[in-house]
Amino acid sequence: MIEVRNLTKKFEIVTAVDNISFEIAESEIFGFLGPNGAGKTTTIRMLSTLISPTSGKIIVDGKDPQKDGGYIRSIVGLLTETPGMYEKISGYDNLDYYSSFYNVSDKKRKDNIKKYLKMFDLWDRKDDLAGTYSKGMKQKLALARALIHEPRILFLDEPTAGLDPESAHMVRNFIENLQKEKTTVFLCTHNLEEASSLSDRVCIIKKKIIKIASLTELQNDKKSKKVEIVFKDNARKYMKILRQIKEITDIEAQDNKINISLKNAEIINPVVIKSLVDSGAEILYFNEIKASLEEIYLDLIRKEEK
Ligand code: ATP
Repeated sequence: MIEVRNLTKKFEIVTAVDNISFEIAESEIFGFLGPNGAGKTTTIRMLSTLISPTSGKIIVDGKDPQKDGGYIRSIVGLLTETPGMYEKISGYDNLDYYSSFYNVSDKKRKDNIKKYLKMFDLWDRKDDLAGTYSKGMKQKLALARALIHEPRILFLDEPTAGLDPESAHMVRNFIENLQKEKTTVFLCTHNLEEASSLSDRVCIIKKKIIKIASLTELQNDKKSKKVEIVFKDNARKYMKILRQIKEITDIEAQDNKINISLKNAEIINPVVIKSLVDSGAEILYFNEIKASLEEIYLDLIRKEEK
């Protein structure tokens, strides 16, 4: 659905995006992550035709933004980081105005405005001026605006920023369900739990691409694995045995549990289990603790900074 080849954007002396390439399939949720100033918003702006690249190629639904910008704008929905709405007209009229740009029948337009205002709990406030809405209400109105023409590609820059926990949960469920309608979602977020629960793949960027992979691939790539061992009795007496295994880089014991970090887990796990059993340990559980996206992200970003 989206193809990006060697894309670069320079603003005078600043290179915001440096030679990035990736592809996104239809109905994929693509998490786009990176520190402040990494080039995320600039990439969204190029993909949604708001600005032109300095060099490189973008293809959206088979079309070139330079030649078919109008078509691309008709199939994308955009929630920007700081969405502006017309503050002196009502929430309803904002949606009515924005949706009038698209080729949608009057009935469909009215139905969609009602659908999204109800979905985002704004129906009771539909006639109030948008300027009187709270921050979270404005964010929900902006999300409704991005969705009003039923876009096939949705660019979301921090969609749950400023939302209360219940609204954020509802928006996440909504994004997840978009897959059923084959909508492709390009999701920028600093909320790594949100990214890990929603994204099919994540792309970590800092001007250049650091990594593109699914969470499972990222977890499997990690050289050092964490394992939790639960014993029938107090765990401390097994520390000595574990310290003799040189691939174990970290050991922490508490009550009947030991957490270890180790390299070459596939080869060393059986060695660990055998050594413990040979010493008389009764092991209740031996589990790999999967790294969170946050741990993986911080690891990758720190390596990049070295
Ligand atoms: P954040 O997480 O803080 O929103 P981001 O990853 O979205 O950051 P961008 O907004 O894409 O980052 O900015 C990338 C770089 O490009 C920054 O150094 C920024 O200052 C610069 N930049 C973005 N837009 C412009 C512009 N119009 N003129 C000059 N520099 C710009």
